[in-house]
Amino acid sequence: MGIPLGTRDHPLRVAVVGAGPAGFFIVESLLKAPDLAVSIDVFNRMPTPYGLVREGVAPDHPSIKKVTAKYDRIASEPNVRYFGNVTFGRDVDRQDLRRHYHQIVYAVGAQADRRLGISGEDLPGSHPATEFVAWYNGHPDFAHRSFDLSHERVVVVGNGNVAVDVARILITDPDALAATDIADHALEALQSSRVREVVVLGRRGPAQGKFTSVELKELGRLDGVAVRVDPSDLALDAASASAADADRVAKRNLEILRELAGEDRADCERRLWLRFLASPVEIVGSNGRVAAVRVERNRLVQTESGYIRSIGTGEVETVDAGLVLRSVGYRGVPLPDVPFDADRHVIPNRAGRVTDGPGGPAIAGEFVSGWIKRGPSGIIGTNKPDAAETVAGMLEELGRGETLNPQSPEPEAVIELLESRSVRYVSFDDWRKLDEHETKEGRPRGRPRVKVVDVERMLEIMGR
Ligand code: NAP
Repeated sequence: MGIPLGTRDHPLRVAVVGAGPAGFFIVESLLKAPDLAVSIDVFNRMPTPYGLVREGVAPDHPSIKKVTAKYDRIASEPNVRYFGNVTFGRDVDRQDLRRHYHQIVYAVGAQADRRLGISGEDLPGSHPATEFVAWYNGHPDFAHRSFDLSHERVVVVGNGNVAVDVARILITDPDALAATDIADHALEALQSSRVREVVVLGRRGPAQGKFTSVELKELGRLDGVAVRVDPSDLALDAASASAADADRVAKRNLEILRELAGEDRADCERRLWLRFLASPVEIVGSNGRVAAVRVERNRLVQTESGYIRSIGTGEVETVDAGLVLRSVGYRGVPLPDVPFDADRHVIPNRAGRVTDGPGGPAIAGEFVSGWIKRGPSGIIGTNKPDAAETVAGMLEELGRGETLNPQSPEPEAVIELLESRSVRYVSFDDWRKLDEHETKEGRPRGRPRVKVVDVERMLEIMGR
């Protein structure tokens, strides 16, 4: 009998792929596990940590970003190492991790967007909202994108919090964003934006909006912006009324929408329309780019399972717009050599244990957490119980003695591997240098930071 795994002389070696909230909550949960000696390496594609907290949370929501203080404490633990600028599948692959770790956790989020599947979707001027978000947040992959803000009206499709975020950023007076960490290129573009009206289209009714009440209420408080809701859109069918009665968020959302519908802010130059029961059926082009959206009026029907869905009535109108942002959800993409459920766009799993295909047998030593486990839903905090469930499975496997049995679990072996491949990985201390640089740049301008949006420049500042 050798020394038991998970003890001081034989720590459990865990690789976490992804340094967003899902990855950090896995690390936190492992560190809290009683009587466990663990050594954790976190790999991240970008040099910068925090995933969607840096690249997804809106710049005018700084309080949501405060969670990074917790992640910083976690990353400072002596048994946690951060390897930024390491791409899974290119710099290290699944077989490498299986050679160096007892357990692997994939926490890579959902990297792509869902599609509408309508004609004109790919016309210039029609973009996934997720890309607009990544652009204004300075994600290096999207920093050079451009969005045509030269027309008065933008249509945003979808009724989730991302739709609310992009609508708010588009219609907010840019002076109010100047004191945030919005990317410089986005601030400049918004300062010369001619957009004065944003129309948000929900395919179902006001009781089925996916946005949370705080976010919805915030729209009514934007300076110089009139929020318009057609009171007739707020008349509920019987099924929606009873569903909303039983749902605290839907009930509160309806109250807020009724207040907004009753407001008269005719003096505002900027307008935000919240429309319901309205689906885009075609994005219409002119001179090779977006000119309008054909919008069909819907009605709601309840299916046998109780789900309330929308169906078209055949009544169609045309809404002129120079830009369309499709905000109908994120979508997970496969990782090289890792099982994938192509219907649900997640890594197939049972309570966080990766399975060999949907419903297949569990694969020893491989786990999953966050959006790539459950799909793109919930807020940052939702990842905490999600991680706890995955870690419970990891500890159970450890207890059964069924983890992987890696050839080279010693911590130096991974560094040797990365160096032998000339991977320019960065540590958490390297990130701290960039963090300091960004915050220092922000100080004289009264901003929390000025983001560096180019990977080479990041590496240069980090001294790599
Ligand atoms: P989401 O909450 O899933 O919302 C997607 C929206 O797209 C829904 O309204 C959905 O309508 C609609 N939709 C889907 N397919 C459609 C189609 N073919 N035509 C028209 N509409 C369609 O997704 P999300 O907004 O991308 O947000 C992702 C997650 O991040 C959510 O959990 C969200 O709460 C979270 N988030 C939170 C914050 C925050 O806390 N401040 C900020 C941003 C994001 P149906 O309901 O009819 O399917």
